Amino acid sequence: MTSRQVLLEQLSSRSADEQGALRKTADLKVAMTYPSPYHVGMSSLGFQAIAREVHLHDGAAAERVFLPDDVDAWRAARLSPVSEENHRPLRDFDVIAFSVAYELELTGVFSLLELAGLPVLRTERTDQHPLVIAGGPLTFSNPDPLEPFVDVLVQGEAEDLIHQLLDEVQGATSRESLLQRLALMPGFRVPGRSLESTRYFVAKASDERLPARTAIVTPHTELRSMFLIEPERGCSRGCHYCVMRRTTNGGMRTVPPERVLELIPDTAKRVGLVGAAVTDHPRIVELLETIVNAGREVGVSSLRADRLTLRLVQALKKGGAQGLTVASDGPSQRMRDLVDRKHSETQILNAANLAKEAGIRRLKIYNVVGLPTETPADIDELVRFTLELSRILPVALGVAPFAAKRNTPLDGAPFAGISEVEARLAQIRKGLKGRAELRPTSARWAWVEYMLAQCGPEGGLAAYEAHRNGGAFAAWKRAFEANACVPYEARRTIDGRRKASEWPSVGLRAS
Ligand code: SF4
Repeated sequence: MTSRQVLLEQLSSRSADEQGALRKTADLKVAMTYPSPYHVGMSSLGFQAIAREVHLHDGAAAERVFLPDDVDAWRAARLSPVSEENHRPLRDFDVIAFSVAYELELTGVFSLLELAGLPVLRTERTDQHPLVIAGGPLTFSNPDPLEPFVDVLVQGEAEDLIHQLLDEVQGATSRESLLQRLALMPGFRVPGRSLESTRYFVAKASDERLPARTAIVTPHTELRSMFLIEPERGCSRGCHYCVMRRTTNGGMRTVPPERVLELIPDTAKRVGLVGAAVTDHPRIVELLETIVNAGREVGVSSLRADRLTLRLVQALKKGGAQGLTVASDGPSQRMRDLVDRKHSETQILNAANLAKEAGIRRLKIYNVVGLPTETPADIDELVRFTLELSRILPVALGVAPFAAKRNTPLDGAPFAGISEVEARLAQIRKGLKGRAELRPTSARWAWVEYMLAQCGPEGGLAAYEAHRNGGAFAAWKRAFEANACVPYEARRTIDGRRKASEWPSVGLRAS
């Protein structure tokens, strides 16, 4: 077998393991494209939900394309990315629809377009090339860096927008007229054409489209063979760093358990309840108990410590949970109060005790360091509290450096600095003395994420330059400098709207 045949055979074999793949023949061919590998993309409920909407649209068919696991091998074999369904090359689609979850997936967009032999820059493509669009979670905060590469941004919840867009594509007489029309429609951003006033508008899907759920179940994801469904969308809380907070899209929308239950296929042995704040659903215990009492396993994407009860945790345990994961998102009570994260040590201790009582074996706690005004004393508090938790159950402490996102109250807060974050992580590691496992996110890559989260289209051009120069951290640093990338925090001092110095920054500095 040639190397090309081996790579295509790998695709065929994972497709053969899928249940529920959607197949359709239609004039308008849409590549639902995920800029990360299959096992990540197929864990994304939003990606699958929009693929399903395209499939339901008259005259349009969706096929899925993922970033190859080994991009270099595909490049060496001169093989274009192809769809899972028909092995159709990416460049042969009418529309390439990227779903982008977070900033660092930009490089996956570049790799896919390059492998397909398509110009990466929007301005270098013509009407003869596929229309390239992008949507996904990144559009809730700052999709500006995508502008140089896509023809249209689909901003916010896309269940209705995708139908509008496909109608427009089907009715368009030319690419030019299509872009002119979309530029005037709320929810679409056409780079260089849409009004500045509509730049950050994010659409809200109609209630009839909810709940999102997966059509395809596969063993080849982290959520192995799990049917995913969204019993609630959004969040009614107001954590200051979060793009999902209540103001983003009107707060939380819930789906009655009866509706969720009737949509779970009889064949689903494992069910994942997905959403920003699943345990805030007012009938979550009833829903969980009904699922596990039917003999199914269950997973929940977001547990809030202040919502946990013994019944709820016992239902999770009965549904197969071996560990319990909650977010603390502030190293000290002072920091949690600063970011309006309404969690106390008492609530998190209670969660640990409930987990132990229910027979759960380990805890995972997510936390953040590098918040504005943070000092070593806040980190000491985190160490002391983590050690206290570790006396109840084994603890894994996930720590991410804080990177301010656009369109949140902490937008404009500076990045703490790479060396400062590394010093915080060293302080935690030393304090824990191996009694709890520390799982840190790289300070360097958090800074890259921060720059992309805070910069405009020039941040995207820098990302492309860094990618072409090998993608190492030094290449990113050079590219941000060469493209004159200035974080929004600093630009606001120029705008005169809010000065960076208004953020108290004891011990903090931008990198
Ligand atoms: S961090 Fe979680 S609880 Fe807070 S607003 Fe965001 S989704 Fe809601």
